[in-house]
Amino acid sequence: MNTNRLDTDLLIAGGGLAGATLALALARFVPELSVTVVEAFPLSPDALPADYQPSYDARSTALAWGSRRIFDALDLWPGLSEHATPIRHIHVSDRGRFGATRLHAHEHDQEALGYVADNRWMGLSLMRALMGTSVNWLAPAEVVDMTPVSGGVRVAIQRGNEPHEVNARCLVIADGGRSGLREKLGFIARTEDYGQNALIANVSTSDSHGFTAYERFTEAGPMALLPHGSPARAGHESALVWTLSDSELSDILSLSDEQKCQKLQARFGWRLGRFTRIGQCHHYPLKLTTVAEPVRPGVALVGNAAHALHPVAGQGFNLALRGLMTLVEQFRRAVDEGLPIGDLAVLGRYQQLHREDWQQTVQFSDSLIRIFGQPLSPVAAARDVGLVGLDLMPGAKRWFARKAMGTGGRKPQVPSQALLAKAGEHDE
Ligand SMILES: Cc1cc2nc3c(=O)[nH]c(=O)nc-3n(C[C@H](O)[C@H](O)[C@H](O)COP(=O)(O)OP(=O)(O)OC[C@H]3O[C@@H](n4cnc5c(N)ncnc54)[C@H](O)[C@@H]3O)c2cc1C
Repeated sequence: MNTNRLDTDLLIAGGGLAGATLALALARFVPELSVTVVEAFPLSPDALPADYQPSYDARSTALAWGSRRIFDALDLWPGLSEHATPIRHIHVSDRGRFGATRLHAHEHDQEALGYVADNRWMGLSLMRALMGTSVNWLAPAEVVDMTPVSGGVRVAIQRGNEPHEVNARCLVIADGGRSGLREKLGFIARTEDYGQNALIANVSTSDSHGFTAYERFTEAGPMALLPHGSPARAGHESALVWTLSDSELSDILSLSDEQKCQKLQARFGWRLGRFTRIGQCHHYPLKLTTVAEPVRPGVALVGNAAHALHPVAGQGFNLALRGLMTLVEQFRRAVDEGLPIGDLAVLGRYQQLHREDWQQTVQFSDSLIRIFGQPLSPVAAARDVGLVGLDLMPGAKRWFARKAMGTGGRKPQVPSQALLAKAGEHDE
């Protein structure tokens, strides 16, 4: 059988949320580069549904305010916001103890601290936007092998029965948390198992969510309830992220929906009134995976392939987005300066600029889990003081809010004014 051959500047392995967003950002900010995405699922733009109906069982992602700014810069926000529920308040509490803190968007002069968007809607919006670009999609197809060669990487791809060979000047690996390609190339990933699972489901409650996200820390682990449904009217539907041990998970999964609601009621309490319905449950084992050296000549890791976090603090994709934009900035600079895009100097700058952000974000979400996962009373008492203190001290509260909004810490401001100006030049 003949092998199909292709040359491309950039090959993105994996067209999930990270890979697809990177492709769109490259099309907008570095249109000089040819970009090919290889995705295992049939994500071809030809197969897009004509319209979108939000589903009760759709999985969703909490987007920080900083991520909205990035989607704005990609011209994606006007469409995305049609099904993105604003988070106007965050309520953090500790079950059975008195500590609690509340954050409000208006205290930060913003319309929202973040948003909850359906993953399916984000995927569809990205695909629609990509249809209008020159990005080349190979899907369903799989990257099966990679060989570093002079000036880039030779990538073997299987598309049905057809073998393809692509010579890329740079390979970006975006194949997710269980990244087989990362392992294949010998990148060293550090994984810590939390020994817990996240159960995800949409739930209905007798009281309206009032656009409030609840982060509740219980002795058995943290849980989050995020406002879901209409962006315009505060409804009665929330997206649940419930942390459970292996045995608790199998117990819960064996229950009827009514019994699941009762368990949830006992764990969460009555802040949202009665739990009246629970949708389809999905579950994931929780691990913290980080890669200290996510680049090498001609290859960079992004998204969950580079760092996978505990989902309860809702930081994983937000961090990934900032990393993607930092990488795009470096590609833009390389093209302007006539440097090869796979050069280690180019990719090394991405690593260097993104490192502090991912270290701080990993530490923030990991410490939330560890501090609040402790049932011992001195620790519990200290965190109560912490939560109350957070509520009383505007400085500390601002720090926490900026972390939650994805705007705090020493993060590179992405996209930079220089990148936005460049995109403006291309639009003219
Ligand atoms: C339960 C849960 C809740 C979460 N909630 C939040 C939240 O509220 N806020 C937040 O910011 N983050 C959240 N996250 C994190 C967020 O979901 C991830 O950061 C995000 O999905 C990462 O996307 P990705 O594209 O890196 O990986 P993935 O979404 O896993 O995509 C990888 C893609 O690569 C493809 N692929 C794999 N191997 C190959 C191959 N060999 N060849 C070609 N294609 C391949 C796959 O088909 C897939 O489409 C949550 C995560 C979990 C598990």
